[in-house]
Amino acid sequence: MSPYETVAWDFSTEPAFERQLAWMREFVRTEVWPIETVYEELGQGGFERAIAPLRDEVKARRLWAAHLPPELGGQGFGQVKLGLMHEILGTSPYAPFVFGNNAPDSGNAEILALAGTPDQKAQWLEPLLAGETRSAFSMTEPDTSGSDPTLLATRASDDGDAWVIDGHKWFSSNGSVADFLIVMAVTDPDAQRHRRASMFIVPADTPGVRILRDVATMEHPDERFGRIGGHAEIAYEGVRVPKDNLLGARGAGFEIAQQRLGPGRIHHCMRWLGVSRRAFDMLCERAVSRYAHGSVLSDKQTVQNWVADSAAQMHAARLMTLHAAWKIDAEGASAARQEIALIKFYGAGVLHDVVDRALQAHGALGYSTDLPLEAMYRFARAARIYDGPDEVHRESVARQILRGYEPPADGVPSEHVAPRRAAARERFAGLLEAVTSND
Ligand SMILES: Cc1cc2nc3c(=O)[nH]c(=O)nc-3n(C[C@H](O)[C@H](O)[C@H](O)COP(=O)(O)OP(=O)(O)OC[C@H]3O[C@@H](n4cnc5c(N)ncnc54)[C@H](O)[C@@H]3O)c2cc1C
Repeated sequence: MSPYETVAWDFSTEPAFERQLAWMREFVRTEVWPIETVYEELGQGGFERAIAPLRDEVKARRLWAAHLPPELGGQGFGQVKLGLMHEILGTSPYAPFVFGNNAPDSGNAEILALAGTPDQKAQWLEPLLAGETRSAFSMTEPDTSGSDPTLLATRASDDGDAWVIDGHKWFSSNGSVADFLIVMAVTDPDAQRHRRASMFIVPADTPGVRILRDVATMEHPDERFGRIGGHAEIAYEGVRVPKDNLLGARGAGFEIAQQRLGPGRIHHCMRWLGVSRRAFDMLCERAVSRYAHGSVLSDKQTVQNWVADSAAQMHAARLMTLHAAWKIDAEGASAARQEIALIKFYGAGVLHDVVDRALQAHGALGYSTDLPLEAMYRFARAARIYDGPDEVHRESVARQILRGYEPPADGVPSEHVAPRRAAARERFAGLLEAVTSND
């Protein structure tokens, strides 16, 4: 029996859910990882056929679309449980598709669940959840800073029974294969900065929606149009959508985006930990097997440092992320803003560092496509940019922290020793005198 009182901190997972996680670990490793090496050969149709029976198993296990509430066909898990699931799903880029929570559809489904009218849910959310349609989120523009979306230039004008959208977007992930796009556009240019923009549901076949290209990237250096995971550049030219296609209240675009992005960042960070863990296992396996300069790499202090530093960083990121998830569950996404911003940049850095060390430890093999590390490295680089670059999250964290401080009234640092010593001498004058007289 412990002599200490039990406190409310609890790092354990409830046994029933831990069993689900154990099943997921095994299932993802044995059923989903093998798809990675033949994905290109399978093509989209073959991939869909390969994962169809896996999806049935996930549904039977009651793990499908776990981010949504039960009335929408999901499991209604809170963010801590979802986070633990995403850590496993992150180990493979294809696992989220098997579990019905792949980006950007999962986030868009959350927006529709959060802000959609009953008609919008019936028309757009239900087919999306059933896997019958695809969606994209179209906010970032090539000509304005995505880090500061209050600068958005895309306009939606009120034109009687319709909104008319004009603008230029890019990096709308899955835009070239989407059935509909959720477009962020300025409806109220004179309103307060965060009340200027609104969201719209735009069917991809609406006249004036011109998908220009899938932008070639570090991840997909060859430009290939119409692939899942592509990042579309889109011109919106006089795009008329009915008034009913306004998603949420007019001017509430940022508010809705914020609701979606908070939990989404938890999922990102936990998925990154899944990738990091896989890279870390490769680092350790290489360390104990590669021989150079008289010993295996694991005997070299630099490599030992990589292992220890990676383990420490991953552990820190995991605890920070689960804590942020717990805070969202307990107090809501806006109360957890600081924690979410912390993990967004910290987690992206950990992913980058761990993959980089694993790649380095494999030398030329790490750089080659014979291992998944180079692909992980390219994936990791993007994590420091999307959903807000590192610098923006650091700035946000620092601002929130610094709000709790003010300059000392007398201009002297609060911890300056001389004034503190003078005050302490006054306080302990009696004792000090006794000590001196005893001397
Ligand atoms: C793989 C990927 C997928 C994406 N998917 C989508 C999507 O589906 N839908 C969508 O709408 N967008 C998407 N994006 C776009 C992404 O959200 C933006 O790239 C991001 O918000 C940054 O905006 P920007 O590219 O315009 O960079 P900018 O805003 O121009 O920023 C450039 C750089 O300036 C610096 N910077 C900016 N602000 C500050 C600051 N306050 N202090 C210090 N430095 C600063 C940072 O280093 C930053 O990287 C995606 C991006 C990537 C890479």
